[in-house]
Amino acid sequence: MISEAMINLVSKSSAIREMFEEGNRLAAQYGAENVFDFSLGNPNVAAPKEVNQAIKTIIEHEESTSYHGYMNNSGYENVRESVAASINRKQGTHFNQNNIIMTVGAAGGLNVIFKTLLNPDDEIVVFAPYFGEYKNYASNFNARFVVIPPDIPSFQPNLEAMKKAITKKTKIVLVNTPNNPTGVVYTEDTIKELAAILEQKQREFKNEIYIVSDEPYRELVYDGVIVPYLTKYYSNTIVGYSFSKSLSLPGERIGYLVIPNEAADFDSIVSGANVANRILGFVNAPSLLQKVIAKCVDVEIDLEYYDRNRKTLYGALTEYGFECVRPQGAFYLFMKSPIEDEKEFCQAAKKYNILIVPGSSFDCPGYVRMAYCVSYETIMNSLPGFKKLAQAYK
Ligand code: PLP
Repeated sequence: MISEAMINLVSKSSAIREMFEEGNRLAAQYGAENVFDFSLGNPNVAAPKEVNQAIKTIIEHEESTSYHGYMNNSGYENVRESVAASINRKQGTHFNQNNIIMTVGAAGGLNVIFKTLLNPDDEIVVFAPYFGEYKNYASNFNARFVVIPPDIPSFQPNLEAMKKAITKKTKIVLVNTPNNPTGVVYTEDTIKELAAILEQKQREFKNEIYIVSDEPYRELVYDGVIVPYLTKYYSNTIVGYSFSKSLSLPGERIGYLVIPNEAADFDSIVSGANVANRILGFVNAPSLLQKVIAKCVDVEIDLEYYDRNRKTLYGALTEYGFECVRPQGAFYLFMKSPIEDEKEFCQAAKKYNILIVPGSSFDCPGYVRMAYCVSYETIMNSLPGFKKLAQAYK
């Protein structure tokens, strides 16, 4: 018998994954070129050639026991130093290896920092719409998951609602910018206001409240939009980063946490995260990929590819009369469902072999999400179906 908790988790298992499986079924039936699968954030852009080159160089020039071996649970010191130096170059910060913990992607990093910070019944505050897995990660540590309703149509975090929701049990405010599923980037004003409210709440409750900033899409921004670096605005900020999207390496499971010196209880958090990485069963982030990251930390993917998809899809859907959030970052487009029950709308889209994800998967019913990290042909070939869908709901 599996545990009751797991029975529950399995029954609510990700709608996005189900959709992805359905896409595979439809592709087998109709041919992959006739199925328009916008369900999963699995990058369609190839990893930069530097990544494979780095793997070859490491394998040819280093000892197998080094690139396949165990190391400090926080990661290789030189890799963490390279990551810190890269952030400093880009953000004007002053990190070094002691501020960096290499993790098994963003998902691993979030679980590590949750394990490190949370007592049972501590509260994690999140802003809807949010990446659905957050709820499962919170439940791994018996934390309370407090959802702040969306601020429509801006989809900036609803700070007035957050102010009321914070209690003496609030330990983490989890933010995600650029955002999955909306593609919205939080403005500097939003972040300043968020920081000011949390400073005030820390004083009021005589507690530390940490911002955990989940940033796998930091590099994926368009039109020159700036994504402010949150550690500069609020000392108790911990950043979670991943190379899944920025280097198209989602299956390789590589990312890092940044824990700034200024964070309250810095030494304990760093020691805790090191042990959490080990005892959650990750032990350490993948060794070969860490070494690849040291060589490729400043390499960029071809953003033009996603930008063309973004402009084409957004342009066409708005022309057909759909109401869309204009994405500034990530590779998602969030669109208002023309009917209240967006799940019914997703079913209707399937008639045209278009797979999109209901907003309720992100705690934001009435909307749907499209992941446009697909080929340009998929975008173009899906448009007649979208046009017919729009006409059906006029
Ligand atoms: N956070 C957000 C907002 C995501 O969209 C994803 C993946 O899609 C993750 C975390 C997990 O990323 P990773 O593959 O690095 O674990």
